[in-house]
Amino acid sequence: MIGSSVGLRTRSWTALGLLLGLLTTASPAALAADCPGHPDALGTSRTLVVDPREHPLIGTMQYRETLPLKDHEVVLTFDDGPLPKYSNQVLQILADECIKATFFIIGNQAKANPEGVRKLVAAGHTVGTHSMDHPLTFDRMPIEKAEAEINGGIEWTAAAMTDPTKLAPFFRIPGLMRAEGVENHLISRGIQVWSADFPADDWRHVSSDRVYQLAIQRLEAKGKGILLLHDIQARTVAALPKIIRDLKARGYRIVHVVPATADRPATPTTPVEWLLHSPTETTPIARWPRVPNFVFAQTRMLPAPALADLNAQTEHQPLLPRRTMAQANVEATLPVPGRDLFAIPEGSVEVLLSTSLSRRATRLAMAAQTPHAAKDKAARGKAARSQGRRTAQAAPAAPKPAAQTKSAAPHPTGVASLKKRA
Ligand SMILES: [Zn+2]
Repeated sequence: MIGSSVGLRTRSWTALGLLLGLLTTASPAALAADCPGHPDALGTSRTLVVDPREHPLIGTMQYRETLPLKDHEVVLTFDDGPLPKYSNQVLQILADECIKATFFIIGNQAKANPEGVRKLVAAGHTVGTHSMDHPLTFDRMPIEKAEAEINGGIEWTAAAMTDPTKLAPFFRIPGLMRAEGVENHLISRGIQVWSADFPADDWRHVSSDRVYQLAIQRLEAKGKGILLLHDIQARTVAALPKIIRDLKARGYRIVHVVPATADRPATPTTPVEWLLHSPTETTPIARWPRVPNFVFAQTRMLPAPALADLNAQTEHQPLLPRRTMAQANVEATLPVPGRDLFAIPEGSVEVLLSTSLSRRATRLAMAAQTPHAAKDKAARGKAARSQGRRTAQAAPAAPKPAAQTKSAAPHPTGVASLKKRA
């Protein structure tokens, strides 16, 4: 195991370096030249092994640290799948380029398409999770509900795998609706919270050309980083080959990220490498912008963010929450509140209200997706709805109360609920 202190890691630096060198040599990571039948492939330039316990929060859209990438290195991430119609095409495009990416799976999608999860693993991609039902209320739901969402996603994704140990302890909060309680819970379990360094707005109603432009523009603005995409969107499938071609033309290299294990130590890094740019290049930490509102449900009403909005140096009104070192220190000295503090009795007004809001937000978010995606999901058979589901092993969801079916209240939530639409 890797020691968690810098001192220990420094002392074992040489040994780790030697070991890593051996691992790298033996690594299946493909270089472009090693991509059979595709001499012009972009390929995967290296594998980065990370220890979630050492750097639990990554992605400069929301956090101070990001992956320790070198200039012109890119990590591709895909959320919300697997959805065969589009995920299979994304898989093929990546295979043709010998690119390894990271996928954040929704439990309900894994439940409906377990074969899709197995394909990702078989292709050598990294698979993390993205909750059971993709509620956009992680920033305000009771921690018990967040835990159930996290666990459902993990359990159904692992259940879909032939070898569940292949599941990476990586989690992306739906809609990037971060909350400290959720982050602390994930951290306590050794799960790394992945935000991103830039999105390409592929969940919005924009053209595939726009997705391509945003991906490249935002990458060029930062010079490296984690790109957030969705493998359930037709526009992403259409944009991806162009993005990859342009990455190659502009000299970018793909990095494959995998979690450290007992047999696979973390890639040696220095703390400063986990910052997007060295401190001399960046604004002081106290000036870090606020977290942007990434509620997908509201994106239809919001203009696409200007490039400057994604830049820490922006003069605009900050979008990311400021968290000074002083604040962090104060928080560090405070005791962690007991879970009872957040417990709300089942069936209470708060729970009902939160559920209702969650459903409405999710329904709106799903309505923002393409009609094709909705129809595809609608045709996809019977995945259980979120209604009444408490754990991944729960019995089939309880029948929906008639009153709810008939009422004008928002339709039940969840990706799976889309099959009730159209
Ligand atoms: Zn998502």
